[in-house]
Amino acid sequence: MAEETIFSKIIRQEIPTPLLYQDDLVSAFRDISPNAKSHILIIPNKLIPTVNDVTEDDELALGRMFTVAKKLAKEEGIDESGYRLIMNCNKHAGQEVFHIHMHLVGGEPLGKMLSI
Ligand code: 5GP
Repeated sequence: MAEETIFSKIIRQEIPTPLLYQDDLVSAFRDISPNAKSHILIIPNKLIPTVNDVTEDDELALGRMFTVAKKLAKEEGIDESGYRLIMNCNKHAGQEVFHIHMHLVGGEPLGKMLSI
């Protein structure tokens, strides 16, 4: 069994982080340390530690993450100006929280995709 992270507590609202969206499959909330004017995390409610642990059973939740990203981008008013969706996997990508999450970032020019 994978170890729970702080994100499971946020999903269950044991830590009072305002949710921007929640349904039976996914949740979304603002990043505590934003890297852009808009920085939202969209996560599956099920604990999946890394993208390497994704299975076919997760496809519905993973697809839902994209439709929620689109909806939240519109609500943030950044759908037309543009935004970036990022998922980090393991050490070289700098993954810090081992419960997969999609970063939705935008609200300002984001520069080149990679800064290594
Ligand atoms: P990673 O580097 O794993 O792709 O991204 C983890 C993200 O989670 C970071 O951007 C970090 O700021 C955010 N984060 C970590 N702990 C918390 C928390 O307790 N609450 C919120 N809202 N975001 C968090």
